[in-house]
Amino acid sequence: MNEPVIKSYSVTVFCGSSPGVDPAYAAAAREFGAGLAKQQMELVFGGGNVGLMGILAGAALEAGARVTGIIPDFLRQREVEFHGLSELIVTDSMHTRKRRLFALGDVFVVLPGGLGTYDETIEILTWKQLGRHEKPIILCDILGWAQPFAAMVAETIKRGFAKPSVQNMFEIQPDVSATLARLAALRSA
Ligand code: AMP
Repeated sequence: MNEPVIKSYSVTVFCGSSPGVDPAYAAAAREFGAGLAKQQMELVFGGGNVGLMGILAGAALEAGARVTGIIPDFLRQREVEFHGLSELIVTDSMHTRKRRLFALGDVFVVLPGGLGTYDETIEILTWKQLGRHEKPIILCDILGWAQPFAAMVAETIKRGFAKPSVQNMFEIQPDVSATLARLAALRSA
């Protein structure tokens, strides 16, 4: 009898190139990386060995996940390209990197991060708003990190600059285990 074919499930993660001031952020990145491996999901990320990005990728690799990094050539030194990944894709620009991060993920997860993380999140959200894709977008609310983002979107809708439906185009999960459980449910849906 043939074994059932389990399609690989790729999770593109956006998160900080800094670790943040509270060690809880690093702990969450570590837990999430290991959790992806345990659920046999692939990690796709920005390819740097800095901040939460590096911690996440290191934990996922150590726990046996397949990890693909996507980094623009000019950032290979600044973000210290991660050596030992399953695959490192080097792009000619930030824009190509973002396109690849988008294309390779079945789902997007946002862990805490800075302006680059916001930029990446807003971009995939605006693409969804324009009907360019239907991929799930999950923000993981470590220490309430996602609350200002949620408040900004709510205020934008209230002021009439976005449709109320945008609220349904992303979801916020309270912690790493809820995010992993949601990914498992999405994969089997
Ligand atoms: P940050 O959240 O600012 O620590 O950045 C997280 C990731 O986003 C890093 O890999 C940055 O290279 C990337 N990033 C920074 N600025 C941008 C931008 N304007 N567009 C896309 N990605 C960016």
